[in-house]
Amino acid sequence: MTHFTGKVAVVTGAGSGIGRALSVELARRGAKLAICDVDTVGLAETEALVKAEGADVKADHLDVSQRELVLAYADGVAAHYGKVNLVFNNAGIAFTGNIEEMSFKDIDRVMDVDFWGVVSGTKAFLPHLVESGDGHIINISSIFGLFSVPTQGAYNAAKFAVRGFTEALRMEMILNKRPVKVTCVHPGGIKTNIAKKQEQVEGVDHDQLAKQFDKLARMSPAKAANIILKGVEKNKARVLIGADAWVLDKFVRLTGPRYARGVAAFSKRNGL
Ligand code: NAP
Repeated sequence: MTHFTGKVAVVTGAGSGIGRALSVELARRGAKLAICDVDTVGLAETEALVKAEGADVKADHLDVSQRELVLAYADGVAAHYGKVNLVFNNAGIAFTGNIEEMSFKDIDRVMDVDFWGVVSGTKAFLPHLVESGDGHIINISSIFGLFSVPTQGAYNAAKFAVRGFTEALRMEMILNKRPVKVTCVHPGGIKTNIAKKQEQVEGVDHDQLAKQFDKLARMSPAKAANIILKGVEKNKARVLIGADAWVLDKFVRLTGPRYARGVAAFSKRNGL
């Protein structure tokens, strides 16, 4: 028996990276999975991995930026399994460029997936989590939800917003005595496909960006998933992943608004 045995867990963005690793680790711990992604090929691979662990799995195409579809999906998962216990709002995209050069459309796209996707997933599943009597919502922010960096204005905005939304939700669940725990996750660099898949403003070299990311992102998605699940077991309000996340979080808190100078210098030195 583990903390997750017999629980129904939803993972968005399960076709790759952290979402795939979370799905596999949850399956190993005896959870029943509802996994979704826009990438149906990646999703089918995750589905096979989860099945190989002997877990029940429901796999669906879902674009988390489509609110009506997310609402219908939540009802579908609840009807399929009869309950929902855990929701990992993990699906996300990256985008690089200076704010002067980003279009409104670029910013909207990042906010639609990385922020509104989390809001829709939270609101859609919340009634089902309350009804289960044993719910937990886990929203994936980033270290970029703790401090800003140049060229990540849209991503920073979305990830700060996820953090604000999630921390308020945790307080409300406690104050209103709802049976739903709430955790906000802030990964540092994790070796996934996020940088390879990302878009950028014109003039920014995509391959160079992906290379820089691979240099800085050290941790495997499996290790990240294990840290997240440990945090969920302990009902942590905030889960930081990786030495980079711990060091940078301390640095930002110690230096206050002056952190920007250090981060800008680091970005320049590393060609970010
Ligand atoms: P990943 O390997 O690219 O996986 C993300 C998955 O989400 C992909 O399969 C992607 O499909 C899918 N997705 C994208 N847009 C979607 C949408 N609208 N609806 C449903 N699924 C969608 O990235 P990852 O690194 O595992 O990222 C997972 C989460 O961790 C994200 O929220 C990310 O911001 C966060 N995070 C990652 C890092 C890191 O260093 N990797 C650090 C901090 C935070 P496509 O491949 O087709 O786009």
